[in-house]
Amino acid sequence: MSYLTENLHQVREMIREAAIRAGRNPADVSLIAVSKTVPVDVLRETVEAGILTFGENRVQELTEKYPQLPPEINWHLIGHLQTNKVKYIVDKVALIHSLDRFPLAEEINRRGEQKGQIINTLVQVNVAGEDTKFGLPPGEVKGFVEEVSCLPFVRICGLMTIAPYVTNPEEVRPVFRELRIQANKFSEDKVRGFAGNLLSMGMSGDFTVAIEEGANLVRIGSKIFGARHY
Ligand SMILES: *Cc1c(COP(=O)(O)O)cnc(C)c1O
Repeated sequence: MSYLTENLHQVREMIREAAIRAGRNPADVSLIAVSKTVPVDVLRETVEAGILTFGENRVQELTEKYPQLPPEINWHLIGHLQTNKVKYIVDKVALIHSLDRFPLAEEINRRGEQKGQIINTLVQVNVAGEDTKFGLPPGEVKGFVEEVSCLPFVRICGLMTIAPYVTNPEEVRPVFRELRIQANKFSEDKVRGFAGNLLSMGMSGDFTVAIEEGANLVRIGSKIFGARHY
């Protein structure tokens, strides 16, 4: 087995075990292979190993790789998105994880309308209030979702967060829990414009804890591809 199939096997096994520990169906957790900095030939191998969902955090890298890989791949934009770059990706991505401000929502709406396509997004929430991270403070998310609900070409499918970097993932369990509670509450209260139950949380160092707390999209890079070389 190559390192890639070995890593993938291990990650899938950890996803399965974490879901079972939490009394969840492992099939309800989708794996996004975070492919930033990973060359296209390695991604082809990854596709052969059964992965069809890739996450990129830079628009330029995504648009370069996009035409080189099979069209059935689902590309997710997981990093900060500049308003003036929406036009390059709007017809290429299955999901934008980083919606965090109204002008960006307006631009996504405008480009979606031009393409005749409703664009799927997640609202990025800065649960831990870190200065270094993008995302809305939890207290502003509901109002933002309601505001975006007037934009017919933007669909909010759920919430996303990046937990603080810690050595013991147990420390960030409350972050994941808070995001899940917020999403559940929006669904129960039928918050206008909240159209789904996707919870994108968990990376290489903390995804098992995120799954135990309800993640259904995990974004895993280095645990699949090895350490990144920039
Ligand atoms: C890079 C990145 C990841 C994956 O990080 P790993 O620790 O390598 O798994 C997940 N989410 C976002 C937003 C990222 O930028």
